[in-house]
Amino acid sequence: MKVLIDNGHGSDTAGKRSPDGRLREYAYVREIAERVEKELHRRGVDAERIVKEMWDVSLAERCRRVNRHPAGSTILVSIHCNAAGHGQWMNARGWSGWVYRQCSERAKRLAGCLYDATKAQGLQVRTPSRSQKYWTAGFYILKHTVCPAVLTENFFQDNREDVAFLLSEAGKAAVVRLHVEGIMKYIESL
Ligand SMILES: [Zn+2]
Repeated sequence: MKVLIDNGHGSDTAGKRSPDGRLREYAYVREIAERVEKELHRRGVDAERIVKEMWDVSLAERCRRVNRHPAGSTILVSIHCNAAGHGQWMNARGWSGWVYRQCSERAKRLAGCLYDATKAQGLQVRTPSRSQKYWTAGFYILKHTVCPAVLTENFFQDNREDVAFLLSEAGKAAVVRLHVEGIMKYIESL
C-alpha cells in the first residue's frame, strides 16, 4: 500500500490563516504532513508527500501526481484546516472528514477509520448527522483522483480555541496521531 499525503495550499495562497496571523494553513499542514509521513515510515508504511514545494502547486498537477500511482494499491489523504468565515474569529469548531459524492466503498472506509481515530482521542468531531462519520463534497482533489481519497479539515483556523489547540504541541501531536492511527487502522482492515 502506498500512502500519499497532500498538504493543502502554498506560501503564495491568499487568505488561509488565523485572524491574528499566528496560524498559516500552508505552513501548519506541511508540518503535520511531514510528521505523519515520518511516523508512517517509522511503522514501515510506504508514505510520500505529493507536494514538497513551498508554493501552491495547482490542483490539476496534484491530481496528476496522485494518478501516476496504481489506484488499487494507493490511498490519498489531503490535510487542511477549516474556516467558517472570511478573516474574523468565528464560532465553528472541530474536526471533519470529507469524501467525494460518488466515491468508492474503500474511500468511505478510510474516512470512517480517520473519524474513529479522532473520536478515540476524545477530540471534537463535526458530522452531517449522528449516524454519518464523514461529509460528501465535490472537492477537486477528491473528484479527480482515482484511488480512495479523503480530505481532512483539522479544526478551524478562525476559531480562537481551535487555533490555540492546533498551535500547542499537544494539539499537533493529536492531529498527527489521528492521521497515523486512522491510516494504520485502514491498512489493517484490508
Ligand atoms: Zn485548505
